[in-house]
Amino acid sequence: MYPGDAEFGFELLVCRWAEESWPPEERRSDAVIVARQLGTRRRRWDTVVLECDPAGLAARRQFGDRELDSDLLHVVRHAPADWEWYRDALPYPGYPWRYVREAIHRADARDVIDTRRNGNRIEIKRIAPYPDWLRRIVAIENKPDLDASAARALSGQLEHDVETALADEVWVATEATGSHIEPALLEDLPVDVGIVALSFGEGPANESTDVATEFTGTVEWYPSEVTPTDADDERQRRRLELAERAYGRGWRSYHETMRPDCRHFELRRFGSAFVPNCAVKRRSQTAAECAGSCPKFEPEPPTWRTRGWPIEGGPGKGIKRLLRRRREWIREREYE
Ligand code: SF4
Repeated sequence: MYPGDAEFGFELLVCRWAEESWPPEERRSDAVIVARQLGTRRRRWDTVVLECDPAGLAARRQFGDRELDSDLLHVVRHAPADWEWYRDALPYPGYPWRYVREAIHRADARDVIDTRRNGNRIEIKRIAPYPDWLRRIVAIENKPDLDASAARALSGQLEHDVETALADEVWVATEATGSHIEPALLEDLPVDVGIVALSFGEGPANESTDVATEFTGTVEWYPSEVTPTDADDERQRRRLELAERAYGRGWRSYHETMRPDCRHFELRRFGSAFVPNCAVKRRSQTAAECAGSCPKFEPEPPTWRTRGWPIEGGPGKGIKRLLRRRREWIREREYE
C-alpha cells in the first residue's frame, strides 16, 4: 500500500516512477521532466511528464532554473542576435507595449536577455537562441482506486483532454489489483487513454529505509497519440508555457506549501522515493492538512537550528534544500 493511503502519497510515487521509468517499457531516448498539479485554468493534471530533447534541455539551462512566464517567453524567444530597438525586434504582442517594456526589464534583471539604451530607445539582444527543447507532453490522471464509478466520473475529463490536444498522450495511473485483467480496462474510459498500474510490494530494507516497500508500474493499456485538429501557433505557445511551469517547479515543490519547518515534519524513504511523513500523526500527511492551520503544528525548537543557523537554518530548511537539489539533479542528469 502507498503512504498515507491518500491520493497525495500515490501522486508522489507516480511522479517518482515516471522520473525513473518513463517511457514505460521502452528504451529512453528523451530527457524527462516530471511535474505535478499543472494545467490550464479549466483543467489541472495530477502529473505532467515532459519528453525533452536532451541537447535542447541542456541549452535551456542558460536561461536559469526558474520558469519563464508568457511575457518573458515572448521576449526571450524573439530577442534578436544583434542589438535592435525592441519594437522592431519583437512581434506585436496584442497588448500594450508598456507591458513588453516591463517584461524586458524583468528579463534583463534575470540575465535572460541583454539590454542597452540608445537615446530614448531600449535595445535588446539575446544571450542565446531559446532552444527547441520540448518534444512531447504527457498528462497523467492519478486514480489509485479506479472502480467503475470513478472511471465513469473521469471519462468526461479525459475526453476533454484528448479533444483539446494540449498533451500528446493522456494516461490514468491506478493501483494494481492483482487480477489478470484490470477492472479499469472494462470500464468506460476513452479508448485513447493509456492505463498504467502501480504495484506495491515488500522490497529490500536498508539502513535508511523505514518502510521496506518498493513499487513498479505495468502498462495495462497503451494510449493513442493525440492528434491536434488545429496545430497552430497558439497551441504551441500554450504548450511551451505549460512546459516552462513544469521545468521551474518539478514535482517536489510541495515543500513550498507544506510545513517542513514543523518539528513533526519528516521525509521517509518509500522505495526510491522520499515522501513526507508526520511524526505525530504517524503517517504520511496530505498537502492540505500540513499547513499553518494544522492543530498539531509546532515550530522547530530554536536549538535545532543552532548548527549553522541562521544561514543554514534547521532541519526544515535542510529538507527544502534536499528537495531543491534533487530537482536540479533531475534537470541536469545526462542521457546517452
Ligand atoms: S503536525 Fe501538522 S503541520 Fe506538523 S508535520 Fe504534522 S501535519 Fe504537518
